[in-house]
Amino acid sequence: MNSNKNKSKKTWLSHSGIEGIYRCPRCFWLQYNQKLRQPEGIVSRLANRFDIILKKYFDLYRPLGELPPMVEGKIEGKLENPFQEKYFWDYDEKYGLTGRLDDCLIRSDGTYTPVDHKTSSSDPRDKEDVLGAYQHQLNFYALLLEKNNKPTSGFGHLIYYYPEHGEELHNGVPIHVHVQTLKTNPKQAEGEFLKAIDVLEGEMPKPSFDCPFCSWHEKLKELKI
Ligand code: SF4
Repeated sequence: MNSNKNKSKKTWLSHSGIEGIYRCPRCFWLQYNQKLRQPEGIVSRLANRFDIILKKYFDLYRPLGELPPMVEGKIEGKLENPFQEKYFWDYDEKYGLTGRLDDCLIRSDGTYTPVDHKTSSSDPRDKEDVLGAYQHQLNFYALLLEKNNKPTSGFGHLIYYYPEHGEELHNGVPIHVHVQTLKTNPKQAEGEFLKAIDVLEGEMPKPSFDCPFCSWHEKLKELKI
């Protein structure tokens, strides 16, 4: 069977899609089972642009077997070369997990460390707590690497890029680079993935009680106009 055709019939979950369960299981269910999404609203694409620039910069060092000076001494291993960005885990005939890594390091013992770039609007040195969503993201990347026969190091890196003040902005905006190294837990991600499948296989969940959208819709129905 054509594997591309097979992939399009399945429900491919991603870590960001699964995060939706915590906001509202009903919206998550509607998104995947009915292809009904909340309208996106106005979103800045600046971080996407910055990701592209960073990836190109990292790609310059990949074939050299060197780490970019921006992160040298802050992370361990060599940049994977060639780099595999997209991963799939074919779970069963109905579901799979997919994800896109920003980068990946290979350590001298042959283990893999996922890397994610984060453009930051607040100083990352001031907040050592990690956003739960970032921890989950690295857990999911570790799971995808493991399921694709790439043993993981047990760690992942978040690399923050924070624009700083400067008196010579005409020479370029200074960027502070801060690395946070987190332990990864692929088992936790696997549990989340299985829980997400359970939600999708069940009845449509109740709306989240404090979401303004569904209550707005209910009130509108009451008006009977
Ligand atoms: S409660 Fe809000 S988040 Fe949940 S289904 Fe309704 S609109 Fe979506």
